[in-house]
Amino acid sequence: MQPFTYERPNSPEAAIAAFARQPGTRYIAGGTNLLDLMKLQLETPAHLVDISRLELGDIEPHEGGLRVGAMVPNTQLAADPAVRARYAVLAEAILAGASGQLRNKASTGGNLLQRTRCGYFYDTARPCNKREPGSGCGAIGGHARIHAILGASEHCIATYPGDMAVALQALDATVHVQGPNGPRTIAFDAFHRLPGDTPEADNTLEPGELITALALPAPPPGRMRYRKVRDRASYAFALVSVAAILHVEGGRVASVRIALGGVAHKPWRARTAEAALLGQPATQASFIAAADAELAPARGCGTNDFKIPLARRVIARTLSELAGDIA
Ligand code: SF4
Repeated sequence: MQPFTYERPNSPEAAIAAFARQPGTRYIAGGTNLLDLMKLQLETPAHLVDISRLELGDIEPHEGGLRVGAMVPNTQLAADPAVRARYAVLAEAILAGASGQLRNKASTGGNLLQRTRCGYFYDTARPCNKREPGSGCGAIGGHARIHAILGASEHCIATYPGDMAVALQALDATVHVQGPNGPRTIAFDAFHRLPGDTPEADNTLEPGELITALALPAPPPGRMRYRKVRDRASYAFALVSVAAILHVEGGRVASVRIALGGVAHKPWRARTAEAALLGQPATQASFIAAADAELAPARGCGTNDFKIPLARRVIARTLSELAGDIA
């Protein structure tokens, strides 16, 4: 690990000022991803600004929903009575991720910033446009079992690895940030980004911006569920995951939200499937047709081709369960 300096400010304003003072600064919260990256020298910050003691640890009612401070540990968020009662899909997604020890340490804000698990990103002997822009992509033409089937580019086919963010995508959360130019709010769908020709950027944060909170609007009506398919029963990243919220009236789909994990460089909101389902009979046939519409542009690269039929089945199965079409 490269030597670095460290400080622990006592306010967001002081943290932002500290970030601006020294080039090569990174914020650190739980450190569950950043420390691994530093040990591998994929991240070599000159200075760490520790935000773990900032007073950003509250979960409170907010405009009919909830406001979640960026330093709320994942374990606490999943166990919060209001989250369990009103945002079950979020609690399920958090508990599907990592391990108990990691969830105890990982923060809500930091969870959004975890980096891809593409093996070529971590192997400094291989080219990777995300690690070293312009060097190429080892995964294209390589072993790409966990890689993207939607929204990829010729420069990067990595996937966003998290679970919590997939539920937040379905819940239409917003990300509250504070930075050198003041506070701003980012719609969740605009927070993570597709790779395009700049895969080194995972999200739309500006330099020095600090996540201070997430806001969850009042949940939509209906039943909700997070389903994750992975290679092991625990402590594994999603091959495909689905966060779904379905409301059925008179046997037809009155409203639906669907987000997918493990398939793209960002949590993927399945808006084509949502539009296809509105007003349709809430049956397995409708759900399969909607999944097919969403996945029509999906492309595998050989070793991940299986994800396309897998995603189709996981979407249809999850919605069918929510509709009561399958026990
Ligand atoms: Fe790097 Fe993205 Fe290619 Fe993986 S898929 S090697 S992260 S450029």
